[in-house]
Amino acid sequence: MIQIKNIHKYFKTKEKVLHALQGIDLNIEAGKVFGIIGRSGAGKSTLIRMINLLERPDQGEVIVDGTDITKLSVDELRKLRHQIGMVFQHFNLLNSRTVLDNVIYPLRIAGVDKESRKARALELLKLVGLEDHVHKYPRQLSGGQKQRVGIARALATEPKILLCDEATSALDPETTQSVLALLNEINQKLGITIVLITHSMDVIRNVCDEVAVIDGGKIVELGEVVNVFLHPQHSTTKALLSESG
Ligand code: ATP
Ligand code: MG
Repeated sequence: MIQIKNIHKYFKTKEKVLHALQGIDLNIEAGKVFGIIGRSGAGKSTLIRMINLLERPDQGEVIVDGTDITKLSVDELRKLRHQIGMVFQHFNLLNSRTVLDNVIYPLRIAGVDKESRKARALELLKLVGLEDHVHKYPRQLSGGQKQRVGIARALATEPKILLCDEATSALDPETTQSVLALLNEINQKLGITIVLITHSMDVIRNVCDEVAVIDGGKIVELGEVVNVFLHPQHSTTKALLSESG
């Protein structure tokens, strides 16, 4: 479903050039929940943002469903982005719009007609358990509820892939559990492939099939969660696991 081939990314600032991704290869199968872990600054966000080209690689290929998306035109890329939803740590909701309008918004951008987009948004808000909150504004919601809006919005255009960059990092443990249960349900029921970044080893343990450990812009360990967590090989993986207790 997603193949990343020899990706390199450089960030140029006045003082220096940072080689943020140093030849990443990754294969993410359809229907899986794929986790990415690593220390702060390792390159996790840069990597996940390559999958919808929020960040462009300087070298390498990003193949989604057989197409190298780095070669797409602006128009084709816009269409592709409908197939890839993204959920953020700080929700990134439109604060001056209602919950319902936040979910309708991407549907309007996608050119869905008025009637259908309202029906679709209501259906999604029901799926995420917010049917009683559709006319509220984001400030009237809890963190977990805000993230449910974020998830409903990400699902609006019926994506095949959902990218989650620390989607539960701003939530307390209990709320985290309920949001993870929702992501699991989305993966199981809708068959959506999920790629998620987290600092929590428990999140990986609870929801991911496979995990990649990234360190200094390179993948240092990769495999099924059970194998990697039971028999970690790389010092970074061992450290991350022992720190999490
Ligand atoms: P965290 O866990 O703190 O979110 P991360 O693994 O997601 O970290 P990235 O955000 O991918 O890390 O950043 C990787 C490196 O690239 C860091 O050193 C960061 O400072 C740098 N970087 C990221 N984006 C930019 C940018 N737009 N311009 C310059 N440097 C950047
Ligand atoms: Mg990050």
